Amino acid sequence: MRMSDLSPLLSSIFGFDSFRPGQAEIVTAVAAGEDVLAIMPTGGGKSLCYQLPALARDGVTVVISPLIALMRDQVRALKAAGVCAGHLTSANTEEETEEVFDAIDRGDLRLLYIAPERLASGGTERLLRRAGVMMIAVDEAHCVSQWGHDFRPDYLRIGELRRALGVQTTAFTATADAETRAEIVERLFDGAPPRTFLQGFDRPNLSLAFLPKNQPRRQLLDFALARKGRSGIIYAASRNKTEVLAQALREAGIAAISYHAGMDPDDRRDAEARFQTEDGLVVVATIAFGMGVDKPDIRYVLHADLPKSIESYYQEIGRAGRDGDPAETLTLYGPDDIRLRRAQIEEGLAAPDRKQADHARLNTLLALAEAPVCRRQTLLAYFGETLAEPCGNCDLCLEKPETFDATDVARKALSTVFRAEEW
Ligand code: ADP
Ligand code: MG
Repeated sequence: MRMSDLSPLLSSIFGFDSFRPGQAEIVTAVAAGEDVLAIMPTGGGKSLCYQLPALARDGVTVVISPLIALMRDQVRALKAAGVCAGHLTSANTEEETEEVFDAIDRGDLRLLYIAPERLASGGTERLLRRAGVMMIAVDEAHCVSQWGHDFRPDYLRIGELRRALGVQTTAFTATADAETRAEIVERLFDGAPPRTFLQGFDRPNLSLAFLPKNQPRRQLLDFALARKGRSGIIYAASRNKTEVLAQALREAGIAAISYHAGMDPDDRRDAEARFQTEDGLVVVATIAFGMGVDKPDIRYVLHADLPKSIESYYQEIGRAGRDGDPAETLTLYGPDDIRLRRAQIEEGLAAPDRKQADHARLNTLLALAEAPVCRRQTLLAYFGETLAEPCGNCDLCLEKPETFDATDVARKALSTVFRAEEW
């Protein structure tokens, strides 16, 4: 299929003037029937890469996606654009399910989103055969990786489904490291490498900064106060801390709420809805807040504690500035964080080789925290990209070395003030 056949759908169905970087190549390969693994940053526009080819050809595309809320949003948007799409999840109403079956019987259905849990039932394979599935699209494909924090055991059934149906399979993720890629190839494609696209990971509009913890609560409040009225996410390492910090921010006059997996589901939904719609709200959250967040104008992501790995760091900061306007990131870290992260890895139930890999990913993040030159160059190097010039938009590029010896300050901070690491 030629690009000239695909481009009209871009405007007529999706209402976009042009492809985002990387999309045209991926869409072309997918529409040509190739097996594809596409790695593209969060917000890069992965959905379109399977939705558009799904509409350019006959047959049904089945999309496997880990979050019911995301499926619902996508199906709603597709329907609003006049596309016959549906979802099958545990949260379906009877009417919704019936509508899907009717559309299959009529031969109208184009995109069917299914929750990975559905793959456990034999009926699903029969249904998909009956529906005339021509492509399996796996969204958030890194959920198949047992090494990552989004691991979903039911994703391991996708390989089986692919073998059973014998159809084209495409996989999409923002998680780029070589290990995860290898695992995706192994588990989804039986080790036969699909055509792989690695789309640029640089987000030049995000400023990058790390700061050793000194008086962390003060550092955090100062940062948030200086940005009062802007939407931000503050990630903290524990549930209790999200509540304590949100309270401290409110007392300082900042509109802030907390969010973590221990909250009542209704309260979580409320918090998500408020953050999505309210201007200038700050959410203090654990990493439970994330995959479903699609707010374009988040102006900062502040890590109150060191993330667990370089992958987590990249994904979490990537939620800021999706509209392309400048956004800031700052990561606070101290020796207690490092001890905590190491202990979490050691206390986990993972196999020894996996623990070793987790330590390595933590070490890479520490190397970034203590990088001697441009952080963006260091970060992108991890993702296999080279940035020729220092970025000019990270703390290391912006500091003037002749007047400010960062290593010296950091060393002092590390030796003296960390003892006072109190929240
Ligand atoms: P990802 O899954 O890679 O994080 P999405 O598929 O959710 O990204 O797309 C992110 C946003 O970008 C969505 O709001 C989507 O509508 C928008 N988008 C995708 N492709 C284009 C495009 N070619 N032009 C303009 N906006 C686009
Ligand atoms: Mg997506």
